Amino acid sequence: MKSLNGREIWFLTGSQGLYGEDTLRQVAEQSRQIAQALNDAEAVPFRVEWKPVLTDADAIRRVCLEANADDACIGVIAWMHTFSPAKMWIAGLDALRTPLLHLHTQANMALPWDSIDMDFMNLNQAAHGDREFGYIQSRLGVPRKTVAGHVGDPSVAARIGAWARAAAGRAEVGSLRLARFGDNMRDVAVTEGDKVEAQRRFGVSVNTYGVNDLVAAVDAASDAEVDVLVGEYEDVYKVAPELRSGGERHDSLRYAARIELGLRGFLEAGRFGAFTTNFEDLGGLRQLPGLAVQRLMADGYGFGGEGDWKTSVLLRTLKTMSAGLPGGTSFMEDYTYHLNPGQELILGAHMLEVCPTIASGTPSCEIHPLSIGGREDPVRLVFDAEPGPAVVVGLADMGERFRLVANEIDVVEPAAPLPNLPVARAVWRPRPDLRTSAEAWLTAGAPHHTVLSAAIGAEELTDFADMLGVELLVIDADTTSRQFAKELRWNQAYYRLAQGF
Ligand code: MN
Repeated sequence: MKSLNGREIWFLTGSQGLYGEDTLRQVAEQSRQIAQALNDAEAVPFRVEWKPVLTDADAIRRVCLEANADDACIGVIAWMHTFSPAKMWIAGLDALRTPLLHLHTQANMALPWDSIDMDFMNLNQAAHGDREFGYIQSRLGVPRKTVAGHVGDPSVAARIGAWARAAAGRAEVGSLRLARFGDNMRDVAVTEGDKVEAQRRFGVSVNTYGVNDLVAAVDAASDAEVDVLVGEYEDVYKVAPELRSGGERHDSLRYAARIELGLRGFLEAGRFGAFTTNFEDLGGLRQLPGLAVQRLMADGYGFGGEGDWKTSVLLRTLKTMSAGLPGGTSFMEDYTYHLNPGQELILGAHMLEVCPTIASGTPSCEIHPLSIGGREDPVRLVFDAEPGPAVVVGLADMGERFRLVANEIDVVEPAAPLPNLPVARAVWRPRPDLRTSAEAWLTAGAPHHTVLSAAIGAEELTDFADMLGVELLVIDADTTSRQFAKELRWNQAYYRLAQGF
């Protein structure tokens, strides 16, 4: 886990030459221990690399430039162990492009009441050293997360871990390549967006390929490869008898495997981490890709239906942020409601493409007609989502900026079996309640396509949005319609001003 893609966090300690060699040796020793404690914390999923104590402006500026230049470094933690006069930090913070976390801590947890003397006070003065650092960051307008507390407190490591995961998401989206097969669904507004602005803001490169480029890869898959993959399906899922070897529709399962092989090969060859499809543009494909898309999502690929590249980007990013955590993350769509007063629920699904990482139990692999797309019946995995707390997140292009909206939800068991619904689905109760949630979501202009994640939450999303300077609205147990409407108005003004002219 600590070597996740070789990514690391740098730990910077601020001090100054005034204290003398002896004190600086202790500063170095204690800051190493703090960095090591974070390195050892399970909640912090990346290696924490301690850097020598910084005592002058040149060294500070140099380490900030090195952090920018090193692809492995996804974030920087800074702590002023003693007093580090903050004019020394101006050039460095001005140059820093890597996400910053200001850790406000100290080496000792308890104050040594009996033995404390002026030497101890001299060494352990982060209480005002970090205030000096906070001032210069605010004065320069440096975006950062501030975390206060002793590293021995699990909530401190957890908050740093959330930030580190957000930083991993930012690093991922910064170099992400997305392949679109076909364009957006005709006439749909919310799945559109400014791909140039997306690359400027997030870093992702979004490019379209003719669907018949994919068809060529699908047709090129060998029968031997198909045999192996079909065997894997039969081992891993509850495959319907008609699809099994010898079953009357086995050929459809073989063609689904062929789609997976072609699609996976195409994405690997182009180093793509995300993709979209569009049922209106299937070219020579005999089935709408269902099973293949579900399995590629489970392997970490981003996906959006109907050409929805924004949700695909978001899915890949959130999967990267949640790597190694329990709970799945999937493409999702608000589909239909249960509106009985006091028991309101949302039924989410898609035509086919829901990720089996959110499944409760073993998915069944089935084939059913699909009234849309005009192709042969597609193979898909069918399951219910695992109950528990989760979040749904949508990304909208508001014209002059992007807006993220998240809703904290509780996934629940369906009230009854759904024997006639042959797609994967999730049933949830949005917080604080369906009416407030839906009114807030609609008022924000947030999309019908979302990412549902049971692995990450509002803290990771907030840190991610802050790093990128993107608006995030969170609808949670405390949301009221009145307050939310005000937040929308304030944000409208704030983000226009923050962008400049
Ligand atoms: Mn859709």
